[in-house]
Amino acid sequence: MSARLLTGAPVVEALHRRIESILAALPPGAPRPTLALLVPSDPSALAYAKAIRKQFRTMNLPIREMKLAESLGESEFAGLIQQLATDPAVTGILALQPLPRAISRRLLSELMPPNKDVDGVSFVQQGRLAVGDPDVAPSTPLGGLLLLRHYGIEIAGRHAVVIGRSPVVGRPLASLLLAADATVTVCHSRTIDLADLTRQADLLLVAAGRPRLVAPDMVKPGAVVVDFGVSVVDGRLVGDVDPAVAERAAALTPVPGGTGPVTTAVLACNLLHLAGLWPEWPTL
Ligand code: NAP
Repeated sequence: MSARLLTGAPVVEALHRRIESILAALPPGAPRPTLALLVPSDPSALAYAKAIRKQFRTMNLPIREMKLAESLGESEFAGLIQQLATDPAVTGILALQPLPRAISRRLLSELMPPNKDVDGVSFVQQGRLAVGDPDVAPSTPLGGLLLLRHYGIEIAGRHAVVIGRSPVVGRPLASLLLAADATVTVCHSRTIDLADLTRQADLLLVAAGRPRLVAPDMVKPGAVVVDFGVSVVDGRLVGDVDPAVAERAAALTPVPGGTGPVTTAVLACNLLHLAGLWPEWPTL
């Protein structure tokens, strides 16, 4: 068997078309939803900022970009978030990771105003997702779910096994899959006999950040495999899933070109939702 490749590009295209039609319906002269983008100096944050800038430019969505110096302190950061929270010209706020040393993820979750929280990091948005009533969900896991939907892959009633339980990908992904009526198992670094669990998965979703963690014999023949992992090995981007899994799986997301590009498109969708222009989003 050679797996169907679930690439992100057609999903991005479909989301862009929807975004364009919503923006085209704005009255002439109406302000466009604006993203405040807070960018730390880490190279991975700079690379992500570049991808966001590129996609938002194609949709003519304005970005107000601010640098976060590595020396930034808690009170300075709190002041910045407060200022953006009360600025009527700012629709959504995104603080890229890894944050400067003094800024904990917990502080970000406490400070982020839920009505401008474009990536679902505030405790209010996390709580809504955890109880099955998402308003703004984190863009990477939501993108993974939309990718499955786009390719007509059934989620309800199926056994989804998630590897990873971080607040960025694994944990919100498990909540989204539950909200979509999957039966969900969450695995992590302390899981005993990972392969025994992954072999039971109809849908295997991997976000561990461990190159080639998932080998072909860990996958049930005919399963659908979604790879969120991004690592650089010998100068090349690789995922958490061995590409040879394609010989057993029915469908597989490639790395690069799978879940990654969908993340940025989902951010734009979340932004339009926060602007009140897409009330029914997210559609699970
Ligand atoms: P993270 O915070 O490091 O979390 C990794 C998770 O994987 C943890 O829950 C960890 O378990 C688990 N894990 C690690 N090694 C494992 C193993 N050998 N067996 C089972 N579980 C294991 O990483 P993250 O932020 O969630 O990101 C995960 C990956 O997704 C990374 O490669 C990252 O670059 C990528 N990513 C992609 C996108 C995208 O747009 N596609 C966006 C964000 C992140 P413990 O909890 O027990 O430590």
